[in-house]
Amino acid sequence: MFQLNDEVAEIRDWVHEFGEKEIRPHAAHYDEIEETPWAVIEKAAEVGIYGMEFWIQSFMEQSGLQLPVVTEELFWADAGIALSIQGTLLGFAGLTSNGTMEQIGYWGPKCFGEPGNLAMACWCMTEPQAGSDVGALRTRAVRDGDEWILNGTKVFITNGGIADVHIVVATVDPALGHRGQATFVVPKGTPGLSQGKKEKKHGIRASHTAEVIFDDCRIPMEYLLGGPDKLDKKLERARSGQSTGRSGGLSTLETTRPAVAAQAIGVARAAYEHALDYAMEREQFGKPIYENQAIAFKLADMATQIDAARLLTWRAASMAKSGASFDHAEGSMAKLFASEVAVRVTEQAIQIHGGYGYIREFPVERLARDAKIFTIYEGTSEIQRLVISRALKASHGK
Ligand SMILES: Cc1cc2nc3c(=O)[nH]c(=O)nc-3n(C[C@H](O)[C@H](O)[C@H](O)COP(=O)(O)OP(=O)(O)OC[C@H]3O[C@@H](n4cnc5c(N)ncnc54)[C@H](O)[C@@H]3O)c2cc1C
Repeated sequence: MFQLNDEVAEIRDWVHEFGEKEIRPHAAHYDEIEETPWAVIEKAAEVGIYGMEFWIQSFMEQSGLQLPVVTEELFWADAGIALSIQGTLLGFAGLTSNGTMEQIGYWGPKCFGEPGNLAMACWCMTEPQAGSDVGALRTRAVRDGDEWILNGTKVFITNGGIADVHIVVATVDPALGHRGQATFVVPKGTPGLSQGKKEKKHGIRASHTAEVIFDDCRIPMEYLLGGPDKLDKKLERARSGQSTGRSGGLSTLETTRPAVAAQAIGVARAAYEHALDYAMEREQFGKPIYENQAIAFKLADMATQIDAARLLTWRAASMAKSGASFDHAEGSMAKLFASEVAVRVTEQAIQIHGGYGYIREFPVERLARDAKIFTIYEGTSEIQRLVISRALKASHGK
């Protein structure tokens, strides 16, 4: 049985209170206007929730549970605003999993900025022709003396174009697939870096999603994460047919998947709580609708699925912390299950609200739109099943 330690429980309550007071009241507004909620992020920075120290502490905390717990609370408050706060983490995770200590120390603070002078980071991997198939990406990095020149287009980038720090996966040798890729930092203001189309979305509409274009974008050698010697050795191993380990892009996703599961749980829990309150209060045929087994059983299923998703997520987070090997792709199991639970639970929450669930005045309408993203980004449900089934095959008979 997982038990939160006192420190994590205290931080959970603090983040919950912030979410309830500072995020939830603004959720419908930012969903409607589809703009980055800078004023809310500023408040999060003032109290320390948007800042490098807080997220390093959440990554480093010894039980492994702080990251999923605070993520759940932020997304319980509102997914679009929470992603505007946490979108930077994806870029930051790309930096920490690929950069040297010196590079992390230099770029880390620039990813978040400070109260009164906020900054953002983003993670640029997906391309028009390379979504699930990340080995096929075409953004090209060509070495020119002591510089790199980047050319290509990224799509669906959270914080893309408005970020101060773009962490970009590009290929230096397309013939080698993901083994020929490297990760670079492209700061805001670099000539040749621009934002393309800003997407209008189904859900998480407070979060900025856009194309990012690199047109002869020149960056110095030091902006190659991990440095040139490491890259040269990796390319040499790949060309001679030896294993190169995991790609920088894939290892970044590995560290962020249990957090995405926690995002989904936050949205599912919010929908379940709204539905439970509504079922207790709404009367039809002279009694609360909860008194109909058809409604009460839906809520029983919702609560059970949310708890099961959280247990899978906490298991994955605690395994990652203890260094256990993910023989059955337990991180992917958590992301797959939690994201599909979020879709089912939010849909059931609308059903329990009847017609009121279908109109914007009630939050479950927005929650159902928000929930769908979790089965798509950071590896679709199909890709999670692919990863899990491959892991099962690899461990079969061992
Ligand atoms: C709001 C939003 C924010 C995002 N943020 C970021 C970001 O910050 N950075 C970033 O790099 N990317 C980001 N993404 C991109 C996201 O990760 C991709 O959309 C996702 O990986 C899927 O890629 P795709 O859209 O090209 O779909 P495709 O890969 O074209 O997939 C289409 C369908 O085919 C299925 N499919 C594909 N291959 C297989 C297979 N081998 N077996 C079975 N089914 C398969 C998929 O599961 C899916 O159902 C974001 C996307 C969205 C919508």
